[in-house]
Amino acid sequence: MYKDFQNYLTSELKAIEEAGLYKNERIIVTPQRAAIKVKSGEDVINFCANNYLGLSDSPVLIEAAKKALDERGFGMSSVRFICGTQDLHKELEQKIAEFFGTEDTILYAACFDANGGLFEPLLGEQDAIISDALNHASIIDGVRLCKAQRFRYANADMADLERCLKEAQSCRFRIIATDGVFSMDGNVAPVDEIYKLAEKYNAMVMVDESHSAGVVGKTGRGTTELYNLRGKVEILTGTLGKSFGGAVGGFTTGKREIIAMLRQRSRPYLFSNSIPPMVAAAGCAMFDMMARTNELQDKLHANTDYFVAKMKEAGFDIKPTQSAICAVMLYDAKLSQIMAAKLLEEGIYVTGFYYPVVPKGQARIRVQVSAGHQREHLDKCIAAFTKVGKELEVIK
Ligand SMILES: *Cc1c(COP(=O)(O)O)cnc(C)c1O
Repeated sequence: MYKDFQNYLTSELKAIEEAGLYKNERIIVTPQRAAIKVKSGEDVINFCANNYLGLSDSPVLIEAAKKALDERGFGMSSVRFICGTQDLHKELEQKIAEFFGTEDTILYAACFDANGGLFEPLLGEQDAIISDALNHASIIDGVRLCKAQRFRYANADMADLERCLKEAQSCRFRIIATDGVFSMDGNVAPVDEIYKLAEKYNAMVMVDESHSAGVVGKTGRGTTELYNLRGKVEILTGTLGKSFGGAVGGFTTGKREIIAMLRQRSRPYLFSNSIPPMVAAAGCAMFDMMARTNELQDKLHANTDYFVAKMKEAGFDIKPTQSAICAVMLYDAKLSQIMAAKLLEEGIYVTGFYYPVVPKGQARIRVQVSAGHQREHLDKCIAAFTKVGKELEVIK
């Protein structure tokens, strides 16, 4: 059998490669941070990590992780409900709830699992999930695993959401699901308007704060801070793999009874291992730091404002953004690849995105700004974009 299957896979892989869609991994030989070294030897400045607060190599987090490694061991060898819960896990859940102003939190191995295990335990055939068309793959998969009726509205389109809510009025329960920040454009979901529509049409709201937590709102508490909805949205999900240190781990936080039911019925929680003690301990140290100081959020916001303003000044076409994601629009797929390669030669590591990751004719380079960037990193990036942009006649 394998011979035939091997031939099949080989030709499929070749087709991916020929379509120019083959994903190669660039190897990094330093910790994740602003200035990194790649295996081929170059020193580059990283503008494509989700390391928004620059915490991936934080001495505070590393120290907390080391201490837990010594005092609490390496792994839990169990799921949470059998014998995989240390006080560290409970503490972290509590700190996440305090951070978001919610009632309780449940940890997962990843936000992919949090979203994958969210809907099926809560909703059934009589219910409706109303989902933004640009939601993350993990929300889409989570919705697929649930028997509830599915409705889809165009990205951040409130008239279309209202249409779905009207169509779903005969269902028992309704929930609107949205990303907080859409990762390809950097726009924030209009959670204020979504919440108003949810009240009008008697629905609940779920926001995935993966790209917004730590970033959006003056103190980085996410979309509910930005829109003055702290404690109001029923369900928030998020990751420890982006702003919050970048290791692993995800969570669902929100109303007490929802979290309680997830602990009883959510399959990725019941059937997958606990996060390691060192990750829980580093997470606790991280949220303690967030409670103490707003220094990193302030720096991130200043860096993003500076970068976006300078790029616009240089003549680039930048998608409206309210996050640390800056999409430099090029529209042409090939151009996005050539430009990213040339920027790498200039020591700037960014990624070009084109169809099918973004719509046809919407190719771009996505720049992700971090509190870990110093002004000189930003200036070097802007200078490289300007130089390469002129060479390729993207700007005058
Ligand atoms: C990154 C991301 C996830 C997945 O998070 P992991 O913890 O890496 O699994 C889920 N949802 C959104 C919106 C994301 O951006």
